[in-house]
Amino acid sequence: SSPQRVVLLGATGSIGENALRVIAAHPDYLQLVGIAAHSNHARLAEIARAHPTVRHVAVFDETARAAAQMPAGVTLHGGLEGLTTLATLPEADTVLTAIVGVTGLEPSLAAIAAGKDLAVASKEILVMAGKFVMAAARQHGITLRPVDSEHNAVFQCLADNPTKDIARVVLTASGGAFRDRDLADLAHVTPADALRHPNWDMGPKITVDSATLANKGLELIEAQWLFDLRPEQCQAVLHTQSLAHCLVEFTDGAMLTHLCPPSMTFPIQHALLHPHRLPSVEPSLDLNRPFSLDFRPIDEARFPMLRLALAAMRAGGIAPAVYNAANEIAVAAFLAEQMPFLAIPRLVEQVLDQTSHQDPDQLADVIAADAAARRLAQSLLTTFAVS
Ligand code: NDP
Ligand code: MG
Repeated sequence: SSPQRVVLLGATGSIGENALRVIAAHPDYLQLVGIAAHSNHARLAEIARAHPTVRHVAVFDETARAAAQMPAGVTLHGGLEGLTTLATLPEADTVLTAIVGVTGLEPSLAAIAAGKDLAVASKEILVMAGKFVMAAARQHGITLRPVDSEHNAVFQCLADNPTKDIARVVLTASGGAFRDRDLADLAHVTPADALRHPNWDMGPKITVDSATLANKGLELIEAQWLFDLRPEQCQAVLHTQSLAHCLVEFTDGAMLTHLCPPSMTFPIQHALLHPHRLPSVEPSLDLNRPFSLDFRPIDEARFPMLRLALAAMRAGGIAPAVYNAANEIAVAAFLAEQMPFLAIPRLVEQVLDQTSHQDPDQLADVIAADAAARRLAQSLLTTFAVS
């Protein structure tokens, strides 16, 4: 059969680069037709040259778009409109959304409405707008393909198992950069410390989220939507090796897990090729060496961002969007050394406390809640500023 034609939103990022490796390794099955990024037009041009099947490139940032020079035959697009054009290209079969932040939401909904297969890496999409994204997917008869390693693992464990038989979905957490630090030390950790993840090599925002476990909180909220779960069915457990990516418990007590090395090429390849399987671009686990799988419960005192995520999930409505927005502002302030690490959960908690959590009737309500939460978080920043 002919190759699947793929559009990659966020091509220059950590997920994007891994997706490019997967696509390049399987030219008979996957063909890149469109790529998008925020401003890194030089890298986009390089990717377009390496993949001559690319006909459309979108650069979100206007200044960067004006400066961009693409190979002959490539059409250049800009802004949110450009992202949406790429997400709905008539010649595309599959869209992979790997843009950090909320910008990927509207293009992803457009891709669903255009009947594309959608592989989702960007957590914000389901955390903020799970209600609307899942409704659109149902309406258009599309099964979302999760790219995040934990959700992709659950997706694989659920093959042939109806969701009604799920008792519990447990996502594993590595514990991030500070899992073994003294709690007292955390007051003084720097962005550089937080960016040293023991297992995974990822973009900066998500690496900080791994250190606070906000990442796991966002993933639990995502799992709730993807697999149609109640909050009490979603749980996280500490697993330091990052080899087992989930545990799915069924009503009869059986648990399935999914093992693969901690590299995103595995879930990306699964999400792009599903339901087909081809050789992986990296070797899988080496069974000639000893390895073990440790699981232990999570100490919520050490990880208040997990507790806050679970509270936001139970509150429902716009609360997860507010949690996400406040966290983005907090993480950016921490990375810019404007605020200490331990202020992240305190800022997020204040924003959640000062917001009323109604149920959104339409997508615009979520977008408004997101913007309001960002403004509030920004205005509270000075309270936590390092002098
Ligand atoms: P990176 O920071 O490495 O990359 C972000 C990508 O998004 C870049 O290509 C960037 O372009 C692009 N981008 C940012 N803003 C815009 C915009 N407004 N319009 C178009 N493109 C934009 O992030 P990651 O790859 O780490 O993460 C991407 C998403 O995937 C996040 O939502 C993250 O939570 C999720 N994810 C990541 C995992 C990982 O292993 N990294 C694992 C699971 C989920 P430019 O280079 O021009 O700035
Ligand atoms: Mg993950």
